[in-house]
Amino acid sequence: MAATSVTVIGLGPMGQAMAGTYLDKGYEVTVWNRTPGKADELVARGASRAGTVEAALNANDLVVLSLTDYTAVYAILEQAPAALAGRTVANLTSDTPARAREAAEWITARGAVQITGGVQVPPPGIGTPEALTYYSGPKEAIEAHRTALEVLTGIDYLGEDPGLAALYYQIGIDMFWTGLVGYLHGQAVAQANGISAQEFLPHAIKTMDFRYFLEFYAPRIDADDHQGDVDNLAMGMASVEHVLHTAQASGVDGSLPAAILDLFRRAIAADHGRDSLTSLTKIFKL
Ligand code: NDP
Repeated sequence: MAATSVTVIGLGPMGQAMAGTYLDKGYEVTVWNRTPGKADELVARGASRAGTVEAALNANDLVVLSLTDYTAVYAILEQAPAALAGRTVANLTSDTPARAREAAEWITARGAVQITGGVQVPPPGIGTPEALTYYSGPKEAIEAHRTALEVLTGIDYLGEDPGLAALYYQIGIDMFWTGLVGYLHGQAVAQANGISAQEFLPHAIKTMDFRYFLEFYAPRIDADDHQGDVDNLAMGMASVEHVLHTAQASGVDGSLPAAILDLFRRAIAADHGRDSLTSLTKIFKL
């Protein structure tokens, strides 16, 4: 097995980008996908199509998994558990930290090592110098495969706990989904008022540049300091009410601002009306 050879299992948009990047870098790439036709283009570019999961695992020491979730991971690996022995499985499938830890144990029990990964860029970012992936798991396994992993993205190593990469990934994605859905809701209000997404874009870019707020609030969150010296929830609630009414008057669904309003109301009912928005971090914790 050449040092520059790898197996990629899972050929959704992400796995396609990964296998394609390895081919571009001159790697020998073996691929397997539940729906075999998704490998056709990669095979035409020089990848080897494994006929079975067993053949895909046997082909290389390093096996990259890029699947929808860990249910898919088990559905595939359970087809050839004996072939896992001696392999390093770079599991770049996203799921919960608990499932990442369970899978690491399951894979270890079959004589292999799991490196957990959480990719921080969309498929076109694979193979670009600024892209990063959260990794956790045995450091020596990551070091042994550093060169091959760095073909995909840079390595943001978090520690030995196999759940850590999944945890960091999920925290980031928590922020990503809520932030981006807010952007789409605002664009829907803009469109409903005859303002195109492109027209509003420069304003959205300015509004969504949260860096100042992120940096200002982080030390206060850590210090449990929620003083309402620069903002307070009572003022915030009035503002969100205006957002809700503007959306509704524009014929746009108001459930997103209504959910925020509900959170603000709960925080105010818990006596945080004069406190900063950061006191929501207390309300969120059940
Ligand atoms: P997809 O959901 O498109 O990946 C689908 C892959 O999983 C396909 O190969 C599919 O096989 C396979 N699969 C799903 N269920 C099963 C199953 N039960 N048995 C066997 N195979 C199964 O995801 P992406 O390619 O977009 O992403 C892959 C991973 O990367 C995900 O965990 C995602 O969260 C993560 N990620 C994705 C990003 C993105 O922008 N796309 C960004 C960062 C991370 P088949 O082709 O047969 O359906």
